[in-house]
Amino acid sequence: MIDEKLLAKYPFLKKGTLLFGNLLVEDILSEQKFSEARRIAISQIEKALGVDTRIFSNDYEARYLAYHISRMVLSYLHDPILINRYATLFRDLIEKNILKEEPEIIMEIMDAFSIDSRIEGKNLKISVMDYISMIKRLGEKYSLVYQKVNGGYVSFNFDTERDMIAKVIREAYVNYFRKDIENLKPPAEIFEFLKDDIEKIKALRDEKISSYSPGEFGELIPHAFPPCIKSIIASIERGENISHNARFSLVTFLNQIGMDKEGIHSIFQRVPDFDEKMTDYQISHITGEKGKTVYSTPKCSTMELYNLCVKNSVNDPLCFKEWMTHPLIYYRIKKKSKVSQGSK
Ligand code: SF4
Repeated sequence: MIDEKLLAKYPFLKKGTLLFGNLLVEDILSEQKFSEARRIAISQIEKALGVDTRIFSNDYEARYLAYHISRMVLSYLHDPILINRYATLFRDLIEKNILKEEPEIIMEIMDAFSIDSRIEGKNLKISVMDYISMIKRLGEKYSLVYQKVNGGYVSFNFDTERDMIAKVIREAYVNYFRKDIENLKPPAEIFEFLKDDIEKIKALRDEKISSYSPGEFGELIPHAFPPCIKSIIASIERGENISHNARFSLVTFLNQIGMDKEGIHSIFQRVPDFDEKMTDYQISHITGEKGKTVYSTPKCSTMELYNLCVKNSVNDPLCFKEWMTHPLIYYRIKKKSKVSQGSK
């Protein structure tokens, strides 16, 4: 007998298809009896974006289906920020549950993630190759050199190392989920059925990006600036006067990624019609020092209207992604890849 409660908790388990595999995707996306599943799915994505919303339900089938509706929506939107945030939300739930989970269930989870592992007495054994792929984002404590390794397997005791087991499995989930979304082919009709919800999620995502505060970006990496911003800076460096909209976009962008007022000021010093007092006033106004409003960097669509989007002339593939809607998204993604490549 298949445990629906277990599938609601771990909706990625392979046996889920035995219970729900005969349902038609079209019905799940449209029929009234699945409306609770759709509500939970959209709420889960909203929660991943920081909205305080209810995602819990006692309806196990709805919870199981909600996860799979979320997967379809995320795959349709193909937005790395949304995918990461959703993976993090689920990752944390999984970690909490694993702390008190039965070893047999843990084995089912490992099987769903295609992790080569087994139970031996009180120990969970994970193949070294899989273990290495699971610990990339974890600290020193998880390094292979500090683990008990025997016959090609890393060993953890269920009684005394449960926190470590929970941590590595949560990371396995993140790896699994990213690949899963990458390989998933969302049904063509998803936008037709969930149009309003999808538009709401996109707007929420843009709002979230627009409200990023300097602290969220960490160290400043100019090589990761989007082409539109680089182009404005290049104009300034060539001694050209720039439009009001270009000034506004540049100041809001630099302010949101954490450049201080002096840094922004020093860039504008190169503008031919540089007026120190006026520049000071404009920067203080836009960054919120001279009023309550901190202005946000314009979205890509607004940059296009301002004639500041240069994607067609620079041909940067990142700018042509469907989900590229904001210069701050570009910076965030590019910065991550620069950091992981060790580039400055
Ligand atoms: S697509 Fe967006 S990030 Fe890229 S150049 Fe245009 S406005 Fe800038």
